[in-house]
Amino acid sequence: MEKEPLIVRHIGQLLTMIGENSSNAFSVLPDAAMVIVGDAVDWVGLDRDIPVHLQGIEVDVDGALVSPGLVDAHTHLLYAQDRAHEVRMRAQGRSYMEILEAGGGILSTVRHTRSASDEELLRATRRRLSRALLSGTTTVEMKSGYDLTVAGELRLLDLINRLKHEGPWRIVPTAMAAHAVPEEFGQDPRGFLDYLIRDYLPKVPAFAEVVDIFCEPGVFSVRDSRRYLQAAQSLGLQVKLHVDELADGGGAALAVELGALSADHCAFTSRTAFEAMAEAKVAAVVLPGTAGYLNHGHMPDARAVLGAGGWLAIGTDGNPGSSPTESLALLMPWAASWLRLTPEEVWTAVTRGGSAALGMPWVGRLDPGAYADFVVWEADHYAFPTYYYGTNLVREVYVGGRRVALNHGEVF
Ligand SMILES: [Zn+2]
Repeated sequence: MEKEPLIVRHIGQLLTMIGENSSNAFSVLPDAAMVIVGDAVDWVGLDRDIPVHLQGIEVDVDGALVSPGLVDAHTHLLYAQDRAHEVRMRAQGRSYMEILEAGGGILSTVRHTRSASDEELLRATRRRLSRALLSGTTTVEMKSGYDLTVAGELRLLDLINRLKHEGPWRIVPTAMAAHAVPEEFGQDPRGFLDYLIRDYLPKVPAFAEVVDIFCEPGVFSVRDSRRYLQAAQSLGLQVKLHVDELADGGGAALAVELGALSADHCAFTSRTAFEAMAEAKVAAVVLPGTAGYLNHGHMPDARAVLGAGGWLAIGTDGNPGSSPTESLALLMPWAASWLRLTPEEVWTAVTRGGSAALGMPWVGRLDPGAYADFVVWEADHYAFPTYYYGTNLVREVYVGGRRVALNHGEVF
């Protein structure tokens, strides 16, 4: 039997986000209503214009702001063990590289993840995904990359797919075995990539459609990244890259050359590189939380991305070392402040920007045909969540027309 339509009424502001490009995607409807049939939006309009004979289950949101579910286009949320003990090391002034050399950093996460059971990894990641939902994120890109062996990386991709099918969140798996050079390969990044090209990439299409690599001076060079990503493309996979996180290393130009879905981080990417990316329709996924958390004082030039007419997405980079969070909403005021973005630009970056970067046109917007993934906010104006920080303003979250999270906000 068909489920009854869901009628969301008395929406103070409904962010529909329906424009066709990055400069006009933001759109808002005041005093609105939304009708959902099955898992998709069927109708949006003014509350007073609801079709008269329409029958369904009514939800009255009493003047609240309703937005699309947030789209986090960049995370590494599948891992074992936190790294909270590194706070003390950072307080003592030790750098990321010094912590790595002391046996901490990414390679310690790799050791813990390799020895964790499937069940342990699933349980820890489910908790992170639940917190993501509770903070308004309904679509999460999730990369593998904390095992760095062929069998182990395929296990991580399998676990990501299991979480994807479990739901209620939407997960986009990305294959990122080329995340770091594992200890066994010492100083031989090229040898490690040869091993992945031979034994790993041919198996990836069963688990993921996209391959990612950490293209950064001192990790994987532009030349080696090109060879690796071309091998992925020859298998029908799409590509994206981590670029210019610590220096302008030419990775953005490689993303353009290869027609990547996105180039991510872009903290040191030049204005000309952003122009070439916009021209080639390569989205820029910026991760201000990482730059802020590491306190290295260098933010991506988001204004240059928008000035060039490119798609700008903001991601959490959720990971245990440089950005331990799953809340994209938390970053909205910081993105406004640190990247000098308007409320409209922030909203576009966490909804349509994310969907552009992931190649998922039916998330991040609320108009007929889109997935009914939406958030009811403890706010009556859309500027509020881009201004007020550190408090979870999410009241209710829906995925595919079904309520999946509720913050009671009760105090006793
Ligand atoms: Zn990352």
